[in-house]
Amino acid sequence: LETEAPVASVAVEAASSVVITNRDRVIDPEGGITKGQLADHYAAVAPIMLPWVGSRPISLVRCPQGRAKKCFFQKHDAGTFGTNVHHVAILEKDGHEEPYLYVDTPDGLLTCVQMGTIEFHGWGARIEDVEKADRLVFDLDPDEGLDFEAVRRAAFQFRDLLKEIGLETFPMVTGGKGVHVIAPLTPQAEWAEVKDFAHRLAMAVAQKDPDNFTAALPKAQRKGRIFVDYLRNQRGATAVMPYAVRARAGAPVAVPITWKEMETIDTPAHWHVGDAAELVKRAGSTALAGWGRADQVLPDL
Ligand code: ATP
Ligand code: MN
Ligand code: MN
Repeated sequence: LETEAPVASVAVEAASSVVITNRDRVIDPEGGITKGQLADHYAAVAPIMLPWVGSRPISLVRCPQGRAKKCFFQKHDAGTFGTNVHHVAILEKDGHEEPYLYVDTPDGLLTCVQMGTIEFHGWGARIEDVEKADRLVFDLDPDEGLDFEAVRRAAFQFRDLLKEIGLETFPMVTGGKGVHVIAPLTPQAEWAEVKDFAHRLAMAVAQKDPDNFTAALPKAQRKGRIFVDYLRNQRGATAVMPYAVRARAGAPVAVPITWKEMETIDTPAHWHVGDAAELVKRAGSTALAGWGRADQVLPDL
């Protein structure tokens, strides 16, 4: 291993057995972000990221030559990631099993980074029982031209509606254009029930407020509205994980926030790869300590 890295990086590498090659490779030309900086980000946020992403089937957005070149979404693997990245066998629709990936350590995350991963996405279930959802996620996708104020209003509408039917929710800015409103669940309901619940809720919102919302899949029907992407709640669907870096210009990060912060935050791409220290500090605050944790089940709808 070369010793030319800055001091902070040396400390990070000392804590991990994963060797990151080509640390100087630029993976985000717009932000000038290197693979080394990406690895340092994930090493720093691993303790606050693993409680959510750990022991969950994951999909990776890999961009081995950086985000300006070809990226691909990877769901399973036959062993090329080595021993830090584990497999969980999941039954596919046609009846055969595929080895899905999961990690449970900082080294697991860093091995994925070494393999060219930029983004981490996760199922809404844990490996202990992939048939039972441990979260609902309402992925609020604004149509082009809508400003963030519209997304903010939509997020609060979902919070209030879900609260009315007994579900506590937590918001996350995606690092992209929208927000995810997440309701943690005690794993109990299976996918058919969870998807049906999310679909009916999304349709109800779109029916009540058709000027601002749509749950319709064809893009033409989304004009000027927020698309409630309820399909994140079906078996096998994923959502971007907290503290994951996005393969988008400037290397923004998906970040859990409080509802109080939602009132004033300016953009869903507020934090970037360089902000890892701030993100770790924030995550330890009392306001965020309980983020994503609630003991609740799907109510009747
Ligand atoms: P934004 O706020 O910009 O919408 P996002 O992460 O919510 O960011 P979406 O395009 O709405 O991005 O996608 C929602 C989720 O759907 C993603 O986080 C990802 O997990 C999943 N997803 C998106 N594209 C694919 C794909 N090609 N294959 C599989 N899953 C995908
Ligand atoms: Mn989205
Ligand atoms: Mn979406």
